[in-house]
Amino acid sequence: MVLSHLLDLVLPLECAACRRPGTRWCPRCARALDALALAGPERPGAVRVRPDPVPTGLPPVHAWGAYSVPLSTAIRVWKDGGRRDLDVLLAGRLAVSIAASLSAAERLRGWSSGPVLVVPAPSSRASQRLRGDIPLEGVARLVAAGGAPHRSRPLRVVPALVHTRRVDDQSGLGMLGRRANVDGAMTVKSLCHNVVRGRRCILVDDVMTTGSTMAEASRALREAGAADVLGATVAATRRRPVDHRTGGERGRV
Ligand SMILES: [Zn+2]
Repeated sequence: MVLSHLLDLVLPLECAACRRPGTRWCPRCARALDALALAGPERPGAVRVRPDPVPTGLPPVHAWGAYSVPLSTAIRVWKDGGRRDLDVLLAGRLAVSIAASLSAAERLRGWSSGPVLVVPAPSSRASQRLRGDIPLEGVARLVAAGGAPHRSRPLRVVPALVHTRRVDDQSGLGMLGRRANVDGAMTVKSLCHNVVRGRRCILVDDVMTTGSTMAEASRALREAGAADVLGATVAATRRRPVDHRTGGERGRV
């Protein structure tokens, strides 16, 4: 209640996506958001997504929704427009992706029990300076604090990854530029090596586009001794199907 009053003072009361006044998230955008669920309206959940081409070392990644309006607008203003009141909306979707990722890992990779580390993709130092905080960490902590999204498996948020050199914001780059920008650019903080070694990790991010960030983050975790790595994001970009021989799965998202 207090937080919402404070927000009223600093932000105009308007829908984060369409800027309709009088509400922070209007019913029309709420319906449009539901329509972006990749698993479909009849089957709530998240689906495995693969960019095309698949970058080397990409872990299995599940995503809740398509990166289209109004979700893309919400993510943009959440990150760069100070709309941290959208944390809850995004955390709900990320929790669904994490749960789907864990379910798949139980079926396919023998993740039967035990704690899981939730590792946010690192943001560039320039972005951190600009934003004053790390919004993705806040959302990851909300998911973990909301109770494990998957039965009794405890989730622990560990911001273990940092950049080893300056990287540009991925959003302004093409596919090859994104790969070159992050290739070999991440490492596990020395203080976190003992935490990561031998553990199962889920990398989380707001959106997956080319998969370069996920692939590089996974490489860094594995290099530090992580036992296995999965990925979960709120959104994934749609891509035109390019390979019909595989039933259209590659390149669907
Ligand atoms: Zn709206």
